[in-house]
Amino acid sequence: MTRLDTDDAVATEGSASCDGPRALLLEAREVPLGGVRAMSVRRALPQRDLPLVGAWCFLDRFGPQVTRMRVEPHPHIGLQTVTWPLEGDVRHRDSVGSDVTVRRGSLNLMTSGAGISHSEYSVGTDAAPLDALQLWVALPESRRHGAPAFEQHDVLPEVALAAADGLAGSATVVLGDFAGASSPASTHTPIVGAEIRVPAGSRVILPLDPAWEHALVGVRGDAAVHAGQDPTALDDAHLLYLGIRRTSVEVSSDTGATLFLLGGEPFEDDIVMWWNFVGRTHEEIVEAREAWEARDARFGRVVDHGDERIPAPPLPAVRLTRRRRRV
Ligand code: MN
Repeated sequence: MTRLDTDDAVATEGSASCDGPRALLLEAREVPLGGVRAMSVRRALPQRDLPLVGAWCFLDRFGPQVTRMRVEPHPHIGLQTVTWPLEGDVRHRDSVGSDVTVRRGSLNLMTSGAGISHSEYSVGTDAAPLDALQLWVALPESRRHGAPAFEQHDVLPEVALAAADGLAGSATVVLGDFAGASSPASTHTPIVGAEIRVPAGSRVILPLDPAWEHALVGVRGDAAVHAGQDPTALDDAHLLYLGIRRTSVEVSSDTGATLFLLGGEPFEDDIVMWWNFVGRTHEEIVEAREAWEARDARFGRVVDHGDERIPAPPLPAVRLTRRRRRV
């Protein structure tokens, strides 16, 4: 995915860091994406006061909708893109030579390192149902200057989640570590990304690492998260930030629910994020933008694409600054 909006490019400096549990319900923003067929997404991360949850720095839900996705080649730096399809098939091509179909049940993980470019098109010529989560993971200093890579994982660990009431739940460990299982996908910081399923009429227990911060987003169904004095209803238009120092959280559902858990060790750096780039300074972002506009070899060439590409938007008139948590 590419970002066409840059309205949140300029963040205000803050100073607070998270020091304990939170139960902060944050609304996802509707963001229109450009392209041949306009589509819109709900962006749950970054939030103005919450740029990161662990190393997770971006979360879009695109769908459910009927559309023909056509995102032409565009660049990334300093991050991993995590695509977790819910419905519909998308063809992914990139500058490390990948040409694969992204479909339900398969994790698609693209590691930009210092630079990669890719495209995402719907499979077929007609509009079709499409629904997915796309997330970005900020790369730490030790990996962000390295080589680009792409991996696809069709087999991921499934774990059972104990029930406080009703039937046991289940989870797919998409990225990192959760409930004693580890995803085979490459990670570079302590992290978790997991799809959580709560059966109808049940209340299940999600084990959490108290040294990590966490958040939950609703995917489908009715979910109530028991993280504060009162349960918090969580739907697919909200993210619930849970803070740190929790050993577990419980989620109940009347009719059955699917959620996505993201979390990890609080990230080592404040980041500068603009368009499709994650860096540490204004100058790095400017340099990456200029390299993309100059068709520099840093971003390679997406296989089978000719000259199609998304030009970088203009930079804002002010310096890009590091984003800080203010919750
Ligand atoms: Mn992208």
